[in-house]
Amino acid sequence: MAEYDIVIRNGQVADGTGKRLFAADVALKGDRIAAVEPPGTLKGASEIDATGKVVAPGFIDVHTHDDTALIDNPAMAMKASQGVTTVVCGNCGVSAAPYLNTEVGHWMSLIIKKKENASKDFAGFAAKVEAAKPAINGAFLIGHGTLRMNAMGDDLNRVATASEIKVMHDLLDQSLEQGAIGMSSGLFYAVSNAASTDEVAEVAAPLGKWGGVYTAHMRDEGDDILKAMDETFEIGRRAGAEIIVSHHKCSGRSNFGRMVETLPKFTDAMKQQQIAFDVYPYIAGSTILRSDMLERADKVLITWSDKVAGMSGRDLKDIAREMGCSMKEAADRLQPAGAIYFMMDEKDVQAAMAHPGAMIGSDGIPFDAHPHPRLWGTFPRVLGHYSRDLKLFSLEDAVRRMTSYSAQRFHLTRRGEIKPGFYADICVFDPATVIDTATFEKPISPARGIDTVLCNGQVAWRDGKPGGGRGGRVLKRQDIQAEAKAG
Ligand SMILES: [Zn+2]
Repeated sequence: MAEYDIVIRNGQVADGTGKRLFAADVALKGDRIAAVEPPGTLKGASEIDATGKVVAPGFIDVHTHDDTALIDNPAMAMKASQGVTTVVCGNCGVSAAPYLNTEVGHWMSLIIKKKENASKDFAGFAAKVEAAKPAINGAFLIGHGTLRMNAMGDDLNRVATASEIKVMHDLLDQSLEQGAIGMSSGLFYAVSNAASTDEVAEVAAPLGKWGGVYTAHMRDEGDDILKAMDETFEIGRRAGAEIIVSHHKCSGRSNFGRMVETLPKFTDAMKQQQIAFDVYPYIAGSTILRSDMLERADKVLITWSDKVAGMSGRDLKDIAREMGCSMKEAADRLQPAGAIYFMMDEKDVQAAMAHPGAMIGSDGIPFDAHPHPRLWGTFPRVLGHYSRDLKLFSLEDAVRRMTSYSAQRFHLTRRGEIKPGFYADICVFDPATVIDTATFEKPISPARGIDTVLCNGQVAWRDGKPGGGRGGRVLKRQDIQAEAKAG
């Protein structure tokens, strides 16, 4: 009788901590890693040959909008195919719960395709995700923008009143009690832009009590980025919460090179309070189509338009020429719509990714007709392009920024390392061939070199397709904190 369920044999282990690769067999029992021992010493009921491959912890995508994608597309191929075994959802101020309205408006439609997937409380939403049995894990933030819509309806172009702040505060408090792991804000966006620093800090107050994190799509990632960083740091400090700045970038040509200002500012602030940030490995961003973003982008591609058919994947400049109007006018005619903006400097992206505070998050938008390639390509691109080909950092460090560091910053207990007792979230990949294949022209394309992906011991991806395992869980605050306490 074999002692273990699965043994991953003859691989080189990148254990997630940044420690140098070492040869070992990794044995799994149930949903856990049971042993990591010299090659040839362990026996499993089934075995996975990892000769020539790296055995790493499953990647943690810390920046996603996959809240309801976990329900609608439970195989989660766009993430499992990259080796991702956990997605942190609800970023940028928008979450699928708690949502008290019955209609899903433009802003919420970014993350919700079927209105029955929204939920009035977090517990109800978590139950929907669990019932869908996704292939990978989800952890969830509560969006300050979503809270605003609950408390203020459509009247969002002002600071919330004291009683509205209380409604938002109490909804966040209840959501954290029920298992959300923190709050996100998106002060850049119209639904939240009128919010004051005080408003956000007061709404976020329950984070301290529950040990929740605060993630921020900052008010400004361009000219006023330093001020926006100060605001973010103040909110985290006042709420007693650890901070993760979302998709750190210096946006717009006039701000190229300004990582020499922002990164030292992060380094200094990190000495005072717990701060980290996530980065995606591309010089283009993607969100809704906004005419005030057209000027600072070198190029704009349309990802979807509800108004005009056949626009997905096209350059807005060409669309404007055909329409015989300005780009701004063309954008107005396509609304509501989404877009990709080429607005970053490659050197800045690399500097951010290599900073000690950086971890990797895709910011992929799962329901776009012609998505940004980061949705399918982020993690293999970091491993293949940035680590192997450009040698921006070692393979071990690349893995660390996608696993243990991410798990620590989001307090995902017993995830992100190859270590006995940890959950069997694992990615086996070929270090010589791993690479993204999703491009701006053809964005829906699984990466190369991702061999086998297991989530809680079940096969989420194998041989270029979903593995049929549906072992994903909702990682709830109370559960991960109880496990951390148990040691
Ligand atoms: Zn964002």
